[in-house]
Formats: sequence, structure tokens, C-alpha cells
Amino acid sequence: MGTIDELRGRDFIREIVANDLEQGRHKTVVMRFPPEPNGYLHIGHAKAICVDFGIAADVPGGRCHLRMDDTNPTVEKVEYVQSIQTDIRWLGFEWGDHMHYASDHFGQLYAWAEELVGKGLAYVCHQNEEEMRATRGTVLEDGSHSPDRDRTPAENLDLLRRMKAGEFSDGHCTLRAKIDMASPNMKMRDPPMYRIRHAHHHRTGDDWCIYPIYDFAHGLSDANEGITHSICTLEFENNRELYDWYVAHVTTTCVPRQYEMARLNITHVMLSKRKLIQLVTDGHVNGWDDPRMPTLSGLRRRGVTATAIRAFCERVGVAKTNSLVEMALFEHTVRDELNTEAPRVMAVVDPLKVVLTGWPVDKVDTLEASLWPHDVPKEGTRPVPFTRELFIERSDFMEVPAKGFRRLSPGVEVRLRYGYLVTCTDVVKGPDGEIVEIHCTHDPDSRGGKAPDGRKVKGTIHWVSATEGVPARAHIYDHLFTAEEPGKRTGDPLDDLNPDSLDIREAILEPWAAAQPPGSRLQFERLGYFFRDPEVEELRFNLTVALKDKWARKKAAPVVEAPAAPVTAPDDKRRRKRARGAQRDAARAANPVLAGAYARLVGELGLPETEVRVITDNEARVAFFEAALGAHPDPHAVAKWMVNRLIGKLSGDQLAALSFDGGAFGRLVALVSGGEIPGSIGGRVLEEMVTSGGEPAEIIERLGLKPVSDEGELRTIIQGVMDDHADAVARYRAGNQGLRGFFVGQVMQKTGGKADPRVAAKLIGELLG
Ligand code: ATP
Ligand code: MG
Repeated sequence: MGTIDELRGRDFIREIVANDLEQGRHKTVVMRFPPEPNGYLHIGHAKAICVDFGIAADVPGGRCHLRMDDTNPTVEKVEYVQSIQTDIRWLGFEWGDHMHYASDHFGQLYAWAEELVGKGLAYVCHQNEEEMRATRGTVLEDGSHSPDRDRTPAENLDLLRRMKAGEFSDGHCTLRAKIDMASPNMKMRDPPMYRIRHAHHHRTGDDWCIYPIYDFAHGLSDANEGITHSICTLEFENNRELYDWYVAHVTTTCVPRQYEMARLNITHVMLSKRKLIQLVTDGHVNGWDDPRMPTLSGLRRRGVTATAIRAFCERVGVAKTNSLVEMALFEHTVRDELNTEAPRVMAVVDPLKVVLTGWPVDKVDTLEASLWPHDVPKEGTRPVPFTRELFIERSDFMEVPAKGFRRLSPGVEVRLRYGYLVTCTDVVKGPDGEIVEIHCTHDPDSRGGKAPDGRKVKGTIHWVSATEGVPARAHIYDHLFTAEEPGKRTGDPLDDLNPDSLDIREAILEPWAAAQPPGSRLQFERLGYFFRDPEVEELRFNLTVALKDKWARKKAAPVVEAPAAPVTAPDDKRRRKRARGAQRDAARAANPVLAGAYARLVGELGLPETEVRVITDNEARVAFFEAALGAHPDPHAVAKWMVNRLIGKLSGDQLAALSFDGGAFGRLVALVSGGEIPGSIGGRVLEEMVTSGGEPAEIIERLGLKPVSDEGELRTIIQGVMDDHADAVARYRAGNQGLRGFFVGQVMQKTGGKADPRVAAKLIGELLG
């Protein structure tokens, strides 16, 4: 009974498994993880993997199949199949001999389809998609029968075989289950089983021109593989009845059961392959494994470990109601893990030079510093060279210290960690008043950081020798989306993209740190955990997670000082493109036009500083912004669009090279904020403007992007959405008004983003009552 007791009390699925084992319904478990190979796996999938493979591992003799759900031949790629395998193995799970494809079952599925036809439980239907929708009825009204519903089994069998033989074109007819057009569950109203699609499949080639629909293929693939427990997410609750119906009506000895659990959702993160693809293809990130992506490959490249992801999934648990998990919990879990894994080193990511005027020019004092803090039970030290010229963090110095600032300022003494106590005596400035370097004296008797007389100093800061240190690039990441729930506000997550999600720094590392091999994880003291990127030639460290909650700190951050010249000449194109905030501040301060614009945009127009910094980066941008504002006097909308949608798309400063001006841009924003076109269409229009120029209204006309505002047409679409989501309708009517946005989103999705959102919202309100 050991196993059964261990399963109990952990989550509701293990509880079900324990009961099934105890009551002898199953001797062991056979689980499956069924990804669709149409993108890379993300952390939401990791949760499902931990449940599916995890439960199999908890039960003696248990196993978990990896099944590629490749029933949709047009979107699937071998690249995705491979990445999925790599990611699951990396997480630490194994399917052994049980790598399957839904397409492996195509033969059996088809035989079952013929069986259902023979039993009078399926028929070939010639209704097109629209007719089918129109006759499905609604939650309140029964559907009506297809004129083809009463064909004889013999006629249906003949038609099905001709469908399979390729006699008909795509969409000509479908095979439908004959269940109940009056069922309160819309899924049971004669759902389609097969559709015709003359498409090449990456595994079965041109063998098939009919492909099974998900609901038909899924449960029966489970049955054919002998699956006992089939776990999916809550959206599939209504599909369960259909799942059971198929399994009950074909000849099979296996009766798998479907159980639904909550999806994983995390703040500031978007978990949907379909939307993640867009980030990749539109170039908002540098590929699926961009460290800002919530994909497993992105997290891996960021330095997150597989054990941290598993620990996080364990912490989140398995529940039956959807919730939103704080990103902070994920970060906390990662920190927890890295605390005992990552040796401590020093690196400076925003260097300010310090000259110790009393230190001999060529003298190098090699200090010994511990790799681990006292509370981590590990030992080891590294040599750290101390020299006359050092770098400290620019933010660790303030010429005029703010209240409570406990670091270096003129006349103040601080401890250079592991090194000496130093006192600032001088500040050297460049022609524009920016601080170039600072001069300090040191106490020669304070080696190791201890004052001989026990006197207290203001604080302890980290440093790196300027002459012995090694230049490196640090990629500092922030949330990819500023909003907790990307897209919630406007329906388009791109509106919430964080323009400052990647900050590339020319850093300097102590030599021991720079000598660690690719793939090493280190803690840069006082900054965060960093991962040496193994995918690039250059010495690059990616921020895995900051030590403190960066988001919270950023909001309260003091104004940054202007930076000194970079440590090494920036030769990276991307670096120039994403010039860091501090450099912008310096350029702005030195240019009265920019400084004036900054003051006006923040003070008069009340725009957020993060956006204004981007806009006042140079004069061309300011002029463009003002021209746009001339065409559409809504500064917030214009700024948002300019920062999130336009500037991010351009490489370098191509604003001047655009074949449209700020006025045209302003007119585009006006169309979106006036509700005449939805944001997603606005994005497509802008793309067209960037590539070929032109006037927004004319592009909308030419590309046929005019929104659907015909009320009759929209009513039908909304009705369809309500039918598909009867549960949401019920919850809305029971008082959950928040679901209105959900319905608008669904309608936008159904119309490829072309529904007029104002009209849609109005009609949805009416129809939902
Ligand atoms: P996406 O919307 O990202 O494409 P999906 O459900 O369509 O997700 P699949 O490849 O079909 O992607 O998913 C494989 C399995 O992973 C399914 O069993 C699905 O329920 C599960 N899964 C996907 N996303 C999540 C999530 N956010 N939380 C938990 N499980 C998930
Ligand atoms: Mg899917």
C-alpha cells in the first residue's frame, strides 16, 4: 500500500489514481503528454509534463507516452518535434519506447470511423461551415438536422470512401458523428470527425487527404495506446462527454478517462504558442530561445535550471480552478535553487572608474575571496586582483548623496569588498559636466576590508580591477510585458510589450569569473544570478534573476547619473539600437531641444517617463512625435504606438528614412484609438506603411482590412461564440461581468481581428443580456 498512500493527499489527480489502484480498476498507470508540434514548449507545458510524467514515475510500472498531436498537417514542423523532445528530456523525463504520433493511429481511427458509419452513428454531410453553424442552434434553442443526416449507412460508407480516395475538394463535405442536435452540450450536436484537406503531412506524406478532428482523434488515440488517465486543461471540460461517447461506441478494450486541471498562468507572461509564434516571426524577440521568452529553451538559455522549473510546478500544484501565479514566485524559486549552486563573484555592469591616488602604479595585490557566503555549506576561494585603477558601479557613487544613500560620495569612506577601505577625495568631470572618474585614497592597513581601529564605514560596495578585469557583455532582462496580464487592456498583448526588456551592458568581470566555461552559473554579488551564454562566441552573461525584486526597485529607483564613456567600444548593432537609458539621459541633458521636449512631454502632457525617454532619444523622434500629435492630439495613444509599435520595429535610427511622416502615423493612431480599426489591424497597416509607405486609410481599403461592422454578420458570429462557451455565458449571466472582454476577444479571433470592436462590444452586451 506504500505507493497508494504516497499518492494520497498531494493533488486531486493523484487521489483519483490512488482510488483506481486501490479498487483494482487499473494495475498501473499509462499517462500521455500530447503536444501539438506547432511551436516550442513553454512553462505551461512544463506543468502538464510534470503532472503526466510525474504521476507515471510515482506508480510502479507506470509509464508516460509522448504523443505528437499531428492531426493538422499545415502548421506542424519537424523542428518543433525535435525541440519538444529536447525540452522534455532536459526537464528530466523520459518516454522510452513510447514516442507516438497521432498520425500513427490514422489507420485505426479510420477503421473506427467506418465502424461508426456502419452502426448508423456517423454520416457524410454536405453542409458548409456556415450552414453548419446556422443549424447548430444555440444554448437556448435546439439545432436542426442536416438534410444529409438520414442517409443510409451504405450511402455514407460509399461517400466516406470517396472522401478518402480524394474524389472531393477541400471543404466539399465532412464526416459527422450522429449524436443529438438538441443536446444541451453544444459539443454533442453532431460534431465533425473528418474534414477534407489535400495537404502534405510531415509523416504520412500524401497518404491521406482527410484528417481527423481533434475531439475524434484525441480520445481514440488514447484508447488505442492503452492510456488510463488522460489529463488536459479546463477548457476541455465540455469535450469530455464527447470523448466518452467516441470511446463507448467503437470496439476497444481500453476505456481511458479524461480529467481536467487548471492551466498555468503567470503574471507578465503570455503562454500561448500561437501568440508566441507571432513574437518570433515579427521580430519582437530573437527567436524561440530568446531568454525573455517563457519557452523552456528560452528559460534554459537564461540559466534557469530544470530542477527549478520542476520545483516551481510542484509549488504551484494541481488545481481545478484557474488562477494567475505571481512571476515573483517563479523568481523566488529560481533564486532558492541558485543560492547553493552559483559561486559568488564580482562584476560591474555600469562601470565608473576609480583611481586610488596613493596606490603604486604597477602594484597588484592578489586577495583571496570566498566563493560562497557563510550560510551555504560549500568551500572554496578565488584570487581577486586589486590594483590602482578599479571600476565600481556608477549607481554606487553620488556626488550629492541623497538621504539614506550608504555608498560612496566625496569625503565618505566605504569598504571595497574583500579589499581596502577607500575615501573619495575628487571627482573628475568631462566637458559636458559628466563624471569621468573619481579619485580616492585608501587605508593601507585595511587589507581584507577591516579597519585597524575598528571604525565603521558607510557601506560595502563591489568592484573590479580596471587593468586585470575582463570586459564582457551582460544582457540584463526585464519582463517582456509590462502588464500583469498582457493584452487584457486592449485585446492585443503587443500593446503591453516592454520596450526596455533587454538592456545590453558593457560589463567588466574579475578574471576568475571570466575564466568559467560556457554554461556556468554565477552570482554577480549585489546584482543577480548570471549564466554564461553557451550559444554565442562572445563572453556574454545573461541575467537569470536579479537578487532583489527588480520590478519593485525600478519603480522607486533614483534618477541615474550620466554615464562615462563605455568600457569597450560598442560594435554591436543591437547595442546601438537599444542604447541604454543612462546614455539617453546624458545625450538629452546635453541637448536643449531634447531636454525641452522631455520636460514638456513629462510635465505638460503627463506621459510616463519610460516612454518619454525613448521618444526624446534624438531630435528626429521628437519631430516625428510632434507631427503625429498634430494629426491626432492624444499624446498617450501616440506615445504608446510610437514606442511599442514603431521604434521597436526599426533598426538603428531609420525614422528619417521612412516613406511616411509623423502626420500619417498620427492618422493611423487616430483610427485605432477612435475605435475604427482594432489594434491588430492597426499593426498590419503600420507594417505596410513601414515597408511601402502610404496613407493608412488607403492601405486599409487596398488590403481589404475594413472591419466587419455589419450587425447581422456580427450577430451570427457572436451567437456562435456564445454557443461554444455556454459555461462562460452562464457565468456572465450569473454576474461575472468581467467575462465581457473574453467574448470580445473570441469574436476578434473568429474574424481574424477584423470585427469592429465597438460594434462587437455593443452587440455582445445586448446578446448576453
Ligand atoms: P498553446 O495554447 O500554448 O498552444 P496548447 O494547449 O494548444 O497550448 P498543446 O501542444 O496542445 O498546446 O498542449 C499540450 C499539453 O500541454 C496539453 O495537454 C495542454 O493541456 C497542456 N498545456 C498547454 N498549456 C498549458 C498551460 N498553460 N498550463 C497547463 N497545461 C498546459
Ligand atoms: Mg493545442
